Amino acid sequence: MKTIIEPFRMKSVEPLTLTTESEREIYLKEANYNLFALKSDHVLIDLLTDSGTSAMSTKQWAGIQLGDESYAGSPSYYRFEKAVKELAPFKHIIPTHQGRAAEKILFSILENKNKVIPNNTHFDTTRANIESCQIEALDLVRKEGLDPELIHPFKGNIDLDKLRNLLETRGDDVPLVMLTITNNSGGGQPVSMANIRATKALCDEFGKLLFLDACRFAENAYFIKLREQGYADKMPKEIVQEIFSYADGMTMSAKKDALVNMGGWLAMNDDDLAMKARNVLILTEGFPTYGGLSGRDLDAIAVGLEEIVDEDYLSYRLASTAYLGNALDKLGIPIMKPVGGHAVYIDARRMLPHLAPLEYPGQALAIEMYRLGGIRACEIGTVMFGRQADGSEQAAAMDLVRLAIPRRVYTQSHMDYCIECLAELNSNKDKLKAIKITWEPSMLRHFTAHFSLIE
Ligand SMILES: *Cc1c(COP(=O)(O)O)cnc(C)c1O
Repeated sequence: MKTIIEPFRMKSVEPLTLTTESEREIYLKEANYNLFALKSDHVLIDLLTDSGTSAMSTKQWAGIQLGDESYAGSPSYYRFEKAVKELAPFKHIIPTHQGRAAEKILFSILENKNKVIPNNTHFDTTRANIESCQIEALDLVRKEGLDPELIHPFKGNIDLDKLRNLLETRGDDVPLVMLTITNNSGGGQPVSMANIRATKALCDEFGKLLFLDACRFAENAYFIKLREQGYADKMPKEIVQEIFSYADGMTMSAKKDALVNMGGWLAMNDDDLAMKARNVLILTEGFPTYGGLSGRDLDAIAVGLEEIVDEDYLSYRLASTAYLGNALDKLGIPIMKPVGGHAVYIDARRMLPHLAPLEYPGQALAIEMYRLGGIRACEIGTVMFGRQADGSEQAAAMDLVRLAIPRRVYTQSHMDYCIECLAELNSNKDKLKAIKITWEPSMLRHFTAHFSLIE
């Protein structure tokens, strides 16, 4: 059979609340047009994020029952550690309550004077954590990654010439090199094995550690299987193991490719760095065998890591994301191509050319998707990245709206509903109004800023 189906069935269901357009207009005003401020039971299809929104399996729920809540030395920790090492055999596996906690710990134990950390594209929390440690966060994604229309199999690749140049000119200032797989802020685009291998070779040449921001390692691995020569016959797990064999450490949000609702870890081979990390962990997260998580959470991760490298799951996962993206493409809605692993990114700047970047076309589109269809998506553009460290405001490289697909949660008819809603929106898109920010906090403004529509 050609049809790729959801490789699971439902055993326990959660009702969705249907709302009307006029109700949603009130909810929007109450939320100051910030979709993060909506009550989630007023959202019909929630594509805000794929983070922590996965449906857990029967085996994961069974794992929850086995959780051992001992303060120190819990068997849950050892099951978690074994499952991580099966894929990513780093010497030290340090659990944290989520990915950003791992980031915060990692960057706070590095020297920070005049330092710079390169990445293909830093995710927003990664950038914010680096900058809050007074380190510069530098994006060096290849130029193909910044062209939303260009079809290229590995638009997440880091620009190796730029990285070499940085290491040659400011090598002493680089405490470590990062690669984000898949490249979330750059459209969920994968990084090739060749690029990971070459980045590692450069790091070795200059004596630098390579850390992977590996939140979507399994999706990245499956793209490698589908697109990179020499990997078609490999199991996803083998590809994952090869990816991690090139790294010296990783930060991880288990809320993504570990199929759980909360969790993360920091891993590394370096003993000295690990000791420093565990010292901070004890201050901010907890004892090293639970690090901000319950024993049951660690067991759910351990099972999730077995399920995430299942070929049937990964094949369905990438096919179902592409299903939504290809349908929008057929409607003439400009999307980031090719479709990434966890989300479809609409190019709002191109879709709404009557709105300038500082009129926040991405926010305008996200607001209208909710108003019209109760669908919640996330602006990744000038609202998220426009405010500069010096206080000025500039257009972000792109104005995208991300439709992130929670793992194992929505069916194809839910996606068909989203497609219908976007078709209707697209036929009235010229009427979308410009947006202005009426209040914003000093950092990570997209989470809490207030907006209004310019009438
Ligand atoms: C989600 C994410 C993070 C941060 O993880 P949290 O669990 O949300 O704190 C870091 N990097 C990338 C690429 C992510 O997608």
